[in-house]
Amino acid sequence: ARASGLGNWAIYHPEMTRSASYRKWIEAELVRAVNGDEFDLVYQPQVNSLTGETVGYEALLRWTHPKKGVIPPSEFIPVAEKYGLISQIGSWVMQRACEDARALPPGVTVAINVSPIQLKCDRFVNELAKMFEQTGTRPEQIEIEITENVLIDDHDAVRRQFRSIRSLGCSIAIDDFGTGYSNLGSLADLPFTKLKLDRSLVARLGTRENGGAVVSTIVNLARALDVDILAEGVENEDQVVLLRAAGCRLMQGYYFGKPVAFGKPGDDESRAAPL
Ligand code: C2E
Ligand code: CA
Ligand code: CA
Ligand code: CA
Repeated sequence: ARASGLGNWAIYHPEMTRSASYRKWIEAELVRAVNGDEFDLVYQPQVNSLTGETVGYEALLRWTHPKKGVIPPSEFIPVAEKYGLISQIGSWVMQRACEDARALPPGVTVAINVSPIQLKCDRFVNELAKMFEQTGTRPEQIEIEITENVLIDDHDAVRRQFRSIRSLGCSIAIDDFGTGYSNLGSLADLPFTKLKLDRSLVARLGTRENGGAVVSTIVNLARALDVDILAEGVENEDQVVLLRAAGCRLMQGYYFGKPVAFGKPGDDESRAAPL
């Protein structure tokens, strides 16, 4: 009964997220969206908090549905993963991010989110290589972000994929670090280059929950593994001070800049260089 009324939903209701009929609707609409022109990338700066310098940008996917407006990635990525559409969407993201990266200075990276499902595809690395060929983007400018969850997958397979990605020249960041169940011992032999401290840990800094101890531990882990550490979701000056005290200098979050469309600084969600 609900499914028949889907087309009539005038406004967005959070409870739609959980309903099976909403997921079905998203699935059907996604198929059209991938082939049409409804996706866009926005870019959020990654900053060296000591120098104020922007060292990179994370590319974040946006879907503007012609009738429903903006649908957040948290709602459609899981559906795309479930119904086998993520690789196609991921290819679009890779292509667009590579094209955009060409406008940035050589030292500035673009970070691309990659679903563990994409990573599992044997084609993935070949496709990435082909993308570099087609766009002329230097692999050194692309960082692949993969959530910590991937570390619970088949370790040897993950390591092989990481190696192949690295041998292209890309760097690899472990996203949302500190929330999952990764086997810390197994981290050491994976060739990634950065840990991204999850924003839930940053949010706990300075509160009674003593988030500082956890953050320091992860900073020290990064140091021991000889990889970079970047704090996500930094929203205020207090967090900046506490993160610096813990030894973390790379930061990303609303305090430094919201995700913006390529080319128009400050003009959220419309297209033009974040320079
Ligand atoms: P993520 O990779 O952890 O991305 C960071 C999310 O935090 C983004 O949400 C960003 O807009 C938001 N954010 C940034 N700074 C702050 C802050 O200071 N405070 C708060 N509260 N939030 C902040 P967004 O863009 O809605 O993306 C949500 C998730 O969707 C991403 O989490 C990522 O897992 C996924 N995603 C986004 N784009 C892609 C994509 O192209 N491919 C794939 N596979 N996943 C994507
Ligand atoms: Ca990310
Ligand atoms: Ca993250
Ligand atoms: Ca996340």
